[in-house]
Order: sequence, then structure tokens, then C-alpha cells
Amino acid sequence: MTTQGLPTVGFIGLGSMGAGMTRNLQQAGYPLVVNDLRPESAEHLIAGGATWADTAAEVATKSDLVITMLPTPRHVADAVSGQGGVLEGIADGGTWIDMSTSVPEVANTVRASASSRGLHILDAPVSGMSVGAASGRLQIFIGGDADDVERLRPVFEAMGDPERILHVGSHGAGYAVKLMINQLWFSHLVATAEVMAVGVSAGVDLAVLRNALVASPANSNFVEHDVLSILENGDYDEGFALALACKDLGLSVDLARSVGVSVELSAMVEQVFRRARNIHGDRAGEMTPFRLYEDMVGSPLRLAPVDEEAVA
Ligand code: NAD
Repeated sequence: MTTQGLPTVGFIGLGSMGAGMTRNLQQAGYPLVVNDLRPESAEHLIAGGATWADTAAEVATKSDLVITMLPTPRHVADAVSGQGGVLEGIADGGTWIDMSTSVPEVANTVRASASSRGLHILDAPVSGMSVGAASGRLQIFIGGDADDVERLRPVFEAMGDPERILHVGSHGAGYAVKLMINQLWFSHLVATAEVMAVGVSAGVDLAVLRNALVASPANSNFVEHDVLSILENGDYDEGFALALACKDLGLSVDLARSVGVSVELSAMVEQVFRRARNIHGDRAGEMTPFRLYEDMVGSPLRLAPVDEEAVA
């Protein structure tokens, strides 16, 4: 603890999301100990007073609680249970929060292997993209014990929107809620691309078609808001890489398999995303599957810019 009484937060994973989250923790006054495979990602934090740690174990030794924000379950397992990992440095009774989009297996294994150590473990994945991470307005879905959630709420509030920091159930529930949100959003994306490609090919003006969809019972948040970044700006959101979107869809289908629910639609959406990744690469934006349908139509699906003078 510091003299101000704020705990020292150890943070592992300073990528698109971790960069903004750590900046907000630092601005809220939390002392930070940070680590990433890319040391340069910590430069601005160290300039602001953060401490660099060479290993995840060192992060844990020097912190009151540890947060991981890493790409996949494999990265989380490496950083926590691998050589030089969090488990080697964390004190008995310590706290580890995984904010990555992941599955319960890694944390379940840690809980089982360290059951005598009294660790407090939460899963707390987020929504809100890198923009939400930067602005401190993330939505956070927390799985774990209610006492831990309340004790750590101020830490979450430094990164997220207080109204949308939700305790969604016991261990693993946060991962499940996050994966289901992403699954539905990606399904909306593919379904919207399909109907827009078909409608335009059938001769309907794109703006007329979209307005009709928005006014209909088939409206969705994706049709009303999110698709506009493509239709107005040709922006497929490179802040969230297609490789990570495919990872989330794979985890979602894995989760369905593990609980014995058949998910034909989810599996098909995953395959569409994987085809887009094969064509456009790992780093293409998460909305790039829309381009598969634009290619079938033969041109980008774009709304004509509004003529401000004509409107006036
Ligand atoms: P990213 O690839 O931009 O960043 C990940 C960081 O982790 C990188 O800086 C990498 O060097 C580091 N890293 C990887 N393995 C490491 C290890 N063993 N030790 C230390 N550092 C390591 O990923 P991101 O976009 O920040 O996503 C992080 C998580 O958040 C993912 O699970 C993703 O699905 C989820 N997420 C991302 C977004 C988004 O819009 N980018 C939104 C919501 C949730």
C-alpha cells in the first residue's frame, strides 16, 4: 500500500487495451508495476512514475494485486503458470484479475493447483474497444466472489463506466458473458453484410435499404450505429484485430461444445471470419468480413455523403 492508501497494481499486457487501462489507473493515482513482451510499450507509463518489472513473477512480488490483459488463453497461462509467471511471485492470499477475453480453464487450473494458497481470482473481461479503454468507459463483466468484487470496485471504476461494471456470477461467468456478447455482435455483422449485399444487388438504394431496416422490427444496434463506420468512412476498426476476433469466435464455439449446446449459426459465422482472415491477414480490422460481401457486389457498400448545403 502507498501512503495514499491506494494499492499497487501490477499490470501485464500493454497492447491496444492495456495501454489505455494503465493510463487511467495511473491518472487515478494507482502506483503501477508493469510488464509486456514489448518493453517500449511501457515507456510513457514509466515516464509517469510506473515501475518496470522484467518478469510476471516480479510484477506479482511488487504489487498488491495483478491484472492480466493478454491476447489468448495460452498467453494468460504462460504469464501466470509458466516459468517466471505470476504464481511464482504472488503472495499467499494475493489477488489476480484476468481481464482478457478468455475461457475459464486457465483460472480453474490455477485455482486447483494453488488451492492451499488462498488466492483471490476474478475474471473480468471488457467491452468498449480501445476507444473505451482510452476514455475509461469500459463495460466490465466480473465473475467471482461478491466480496472480492466490492473490495476491488474502485480499481475497476478507474478503468470502466461505474454504471456498467457488472458482477455477472461466480468464477467463469464474466468470460461467458463477454464471449456471448461478441458472438452475437459478430453474427449481426455477417447477417447485416448479407442482407445489404443482396438488397443492393437487387437494385435497392443502400440508404433507402438501411433506413427501411432501421425503421423495421429487424433493426439492430449494428444496423443503426456500428455499420456506419463502414458505410460512411470505410473504417473496418483496426483497433481490434481480425486474429483476435477469430480467437473469440473459436472460444465461443469451444464454450458451446464444452456445455453440450449445438451452435450451427455460431460455427458458420466463425468460418466466415476465418475466410476473411485468410484473405486479409491477422491485423485487418474486426469488421473486415463485411468486405467479403462487398467483393461479391463488386464495389464497396458506401452511403453518399450528405450534401450539407442542400439540407440547409
Ligand atoms: P494486443 O495484441 O494489442 O496486446 C496484447 C499485449 O500483450 C501485447 O502488447 C503483447 O506484447 C503482450 N503480451 C503477449 N503475451 C505476453 C506475455 N506472456 N507477457 C507479457 N506481455 C505479453 O491485444 P488487445 O487488443 O489489447 O487485447 C487484449 C485482450 O483484450 C484480448 O483478450 C482481446 O480479445 C480483449 N479485448 C480487446 C478489445 C479491442 O478492441 N482491442 C476489446 C475488448 C476486449
